[in-house]
Amino acid sequence: MIKLDTTVRKKLILAMAGAVSENAEHLTTLDQAIGDGDHGANLKRGFTAVADEAQTIAGKPLPEGLKALGMKLVMTVGGASGPLFGTLFMALGKNLHNDDPDLAEFKLALEQAIDAVKARGKSEIGQKTMLDVLAPLAKALDENDPGMLKNLPGIAEQAAEATIPMLAIKGRASFLGERSIGHMDPGACSVALLTRIVCECLAGNS
Ligand code: ADP
Ligand code: MG
Repeated sequence: MIKLDTTVRKKLILAMAGAVSENAEHLTTLDQAIGDGDHGANLKRGFTAVADEAQTIAGKPLPEGLKALGMKLVMTVGGASGPLFGTLFMALGKNLHNDDPDLAEFKLALEQAIDAVKARGKSEIGQKTMLDVLAPLAKALDENDPGMLKNLPGIAEQAAEATIPMLAIKGRASFLGERSIGHMDPGACSVALLTRIVCECLAGNS
């Protein structure tokens, strides 16, 4: 896989923060429909705090950097999504062991991180949350697919679209019951957004 050295890690952090900031309004609009309208602002606050420490975080070995990034998100994002996005990155860091994991290692770490998010959120796949994009992504990681970096953003976006007809069972959107149907889950959208930016950034470095 691509070597995630300090330069690439810093580039990834700044790219994620930039994408979240540019799309904060859209994420907020989605959260206004089935939540409390703070998802864009929450994530923007978190990723801005991460970007402020990009040099320090990128300077750490990949596992430690991911843990630091996750902790920063837990401390700054707030809402339900702070601990969940934080757990995702912290668990990725805990389950990766060096700076250049191969795809099989990364897939396993992502599966373990998804399990950690499920445990933190007491949630499952199919409940109209960020997990509904994370799970198809983990499934799609395949070392025999040379076009993977090109294909993953589309897979994530389709998975986010697929949350539109779902009934929300977890989080604030579940308070709406049947009225949650017909809207994209904001957390699913932000995972798709982060996937696109990470893949584009990595494709530019391969
Ligand atoms: P809040 O719901 O506290 O306002 P945000 O608006 O920042 O927090 O984040 C909402 C997103 O968090 C949802 O769109 C969903 O994807 C995700 N989410 C909420 N609760 C859970 C949960 N229990 N498990 C997984 N994801 C969840
Ligand atoms: Mg919200």
